[in-house]
Amino acid sequence: MNIVLLGIQGSGKGTVVNNLKKHMDFALVSVGSLLREEVASGSPLGRQIKEKMENGELVELPYVMSAVKNKLKTCASDIVIFDGFPRSDEQADALDEICKVDKVIYLNLKKEIAIDRILNRLNCTKCGHISDRKTSPDMICPKCGAKLVVRSDDTVETVNKRFEQYYSETYPLIERYKSRGVLYEIDASKTPDEVLADVMKVIK
Ligand SMILES: [Zn+2]
Repeated sequence: MNIVLLGIQGSGKGTVVNNLKKHMDFALVSVGSLLREEVASGSPLGRQIKEKMENGELVELPYVMSAVKNKLKTCASDIVIFDGFPRSDEQADALDEICKVDKVIYLNLKKEIAIDRILNRLNCTKCGHISDRKTSPDMICPKCGAKLVVRSDDTVETVNKRFEQYYSETYPLIERYKSRGVLYEIDASKTPDEVLADVMKVIK
């Protein structure tokens, strides 16, 4: 089963993925880490991607799709979750060509709440746990005790830019998948546990 996780930045996609890992086995396709894996593998495709990254060039869609295809071929799990991909109609078309999207989970969250969450968000440098300033005012990870940091790209300016891009490119995907009858909307303003329970209901 192929599942796309869709939602504005701050809607809790990362938290959902981290919490799901404790309950079920799945393969995660996140384009950023996928490209890094391909580069690390030293494959011919990885070498081409590496060159583009080192030159500061955009890694074009055909390269991304080849990496996605490789991942789908080699992953052992029956459930594949696409995190933050596709982000545009063009990417969604390309994904349709290589696999069937069975379900799309849309974490719906108001922009104002999302911005507030992003600007208060803290990431663990060691275990990847996501916390916030209210829960961890001491900047120490409650899971492993390592230092928590603010993501360097989480500023008001960059957040606004990413939101503009989201509304112009990604938001139309909601209609696309809704009309296909595969969209499951979840209220992402609920607690992480409640959101997780709703997500698991959709996957089961
Ligand atoms: Zn930690």
